[in-house]
Amino acid sequence: MTFDAPLGYASYMPEGSYPFQVGSICCTVLSDGYYSFPTPWVFPNADPDELAWALDKRRLPQESVLSPYTCLLIETGRHVVLVDTGGGGSLPTTGALVARLEVAGIRPRDVDTVVLTHAHPDHIGGTLNSTGRPAFPNARYVLSELEWDFWTTGRAELRDLRLPKDVKGTMEFTARRCLGALRFQVEPIDGEGEIVPGVRAIPAPGHTPGHLAILLSSEGQNLLNVGDAAVHPLHLEHPAWENGFDLSGGIAIATRRELVERAASEKMHLMAFHFPFPSVGRVSKLPGGGWEWSPGW
Ligand SMILES: [Zn+2]
Repeated sequence: MTFDAPLGYASYMPEGSYPFQVGSICCTVLSDGYYSFPTPWVFPNADPDELAWALDKRRLPQESVLSPYTCLLIETGRHVVLVDTGGGGSLPTTGALVARLEVAGIRPRDVDTVVLTHAHPDHIGGTLNSTGRPAFPNARYVLSELEWDFWTTGRAELRDLRLPKDVKGTMEFTARRCLGALRFQVEPIDGEGEIVPGVRAIPAPGHTPGHLAILLSSEGQNLLNVGDAAVHPLHLEHPAWENGFDLSGGIAIATRRELVERAASEKMHLMAFHFPFPSVGRVSKLPGGGWEWSPGW
């Protein structure tokens, strides 16, 4: 019996993985899972009628927003870098990252650099394994110094977040637990800088004080991973719509505009952790303001 491999079989990846190249850099987006949030948490200041219409137009539910968790694997030839680690075992619908990495041929010990865009539970929950030890034992864990200080020095001030108290409590608890366990492998960085050749950290504050965007550049191609500077394509179409998870709405909106404007004008691909899988795409300016999202590489 013969097996006719479909076209492209050699590049087959498990469901929830999507490989692409940025110049000579091999990238794979990996789904860690998803979570469903009440709509007002994601769009706290949107006009209710306008929001209802926008969701209806996309045949999306009104009450909740399904939010994918998508991590980025970067293989430069010399380095194996992971951007964000997903929610780990914190939720029944998250924690697929390590299995997806292994099917893609990457064992946890192969990862030499973990970049954390910020220290919210959906991005750092996967930094520890089920025994509470670093899940990627040989990696340095890179995050901004501001972020490290915010969560580890004194009490993190989360008063301005428009979220229930227990959600804020989980944020603080998870950050302290994960960052505490990573203290011997953590490498806080100050400002913009190169993480490994071809991969740069760019300060992108607002969502959290030390939130980072990650820019990949190789052979004239670029991918700008904006982390949580936008968490839904509607945040691009309506740039004034805030995200309830942003610590400072005003700064977050200015950061988002700056990043997306740059991606649009320099014709970069964009990635956003919570956008519909595969969470990479392009942006183009809309005539009335804002940007349209076109998914895919
Ligand atoms: Zn997030």
